[in-house]
Amino acid sequence: MDLSQLITKNLPVYNKGKVASYIPMLAQVDPKQLGVTLFNLKSNQVNSAGDYDVRFAIESISKVITLLWAIKKLGMTEVFKHVSSRQTGFAFNSILNMEIENTNVPLNPFVNAGAILTTSLIAKDTAFDDILNFAQKICNDSQIYLDEEIFNSEKSTGDLDRSLAYYMKSKNMIKNDITLSLDIYFKQCSMMVTTKSLANLGALLANDGIAPWNNHRLISSNAATCVKSLMMTTGLYNQSGICSRLIGVPTKSGVGGGLVCASPEKYGIGIFSPALNKDGNSIAGLALLKDIAKELKINIFR
Ligand code: GLU
Repeated sequence: MDLSQLITKNLPVYNKGKVASYIPMLAQVDPKQLGVTLFNLKSNQVNSAGDYDVRFAIESISKVITLLWAIKKLGMTEVFKHVSSRQTGFAFNSILNMEIENTNVPLNPFVNAGAILTTSLIAKDTAFDDILNFAQKICNDSQIYLDEEIFNSEKSTGDLDRSLAYYMKSKNMIKNDITLSLDIYFKQCSMMVTTKSLANLGALLANDGIAPWNNHRLISSNAATCVKSLMMTTGLYNQSGICSRLIGVPTKSGVGGGLVCASPEKYGIGIFSPALNKDGNSIAGLALLKDIAKELKINIFR
C-alpha cells in the first residue's frame, strides 16, 4: 500500500470541512494538512507519509489517556459507577442528554461531560504532570508537551465545559473541586502530539496493552479491551455508528484533527488533518482511514 498516494488522493477532502473555531488557537491552524503513521504489529515496522511529524493538539483523544489512567488508579468497577458507556444522539459537548434523562451519570467517558467527570475522579490525587508522563509513556513519545497558548485559549473560551462541570456538581455527580478538575481537563486537551505518538497509542491498544516497542505491559488487557469497545461505539461522537459500518475499526477523534485507531492484533494508526466535519471529526482523516482500512482489510466485522 502506498501511503503517499493515499495522502495525495485524500488531501483535497479538507476543502469540505472547517477547522474548529470555538477554540481560537485551533482556528489558526492551516487546514490543508494530512499525515499518517502506520504501526504494523506483525513486522514491528512503522511507516509514515504526508504531515506525519506535525505537532497538533490532542484534544479529545486525551480522553482515552485519562480513562486508562483512571482505570489504572481506581479500577474498572469504580470508574463505571460514575460514568456510563452508552452512545449519544447529541453533540459531544451537549448538556441535554443528562438533563432529559436525569440519570445522574454522564453517557460515556468520551463525550465532554463524561471526560470531565472521569478527570474529576482522579483530580485529587493526580497532578497534570502525572497525566503528561503517562501520555509520554503510552504514546512512546517523550516530546509530548503542554502548549500553554492552547491551554489558555481552551480555558478562556471553555464556558460550555464549565457549565457541564457545574451542572454535574449541582447534581452531586462531581464531588470535588470543579476548578481543579477543569484545569487538568483543559491541560490534557492541550498536549501536543504527532501521528507517530497516536500510532503508538493505537498499537498499544491493538496489542492488548503490551507496548510493541519494548514488550512491557503498560495497561491491563481488560482496560485495552474496554477502551477499544468504547472507541468503536462512541469514539467518533454521532458518526460512530456510520463509521462502524463504513470503516469498522475502533477509532477516537479529537477536534485538533487527530484520529487514533486500533486494529486488534494488526495495526496502530495515527492520522492528522485539522479540518472537521459537522460531527467534529477530521474530514480528510476519515476519508484516508476508510481507504487504509479497505486496503488492509482490517474491518473487525469481516
Ligand atoms: N477541548 C475540546 C472541548 O472541550 C475537546 C473536544 C474534542 O476534541 O472533541 O470541547
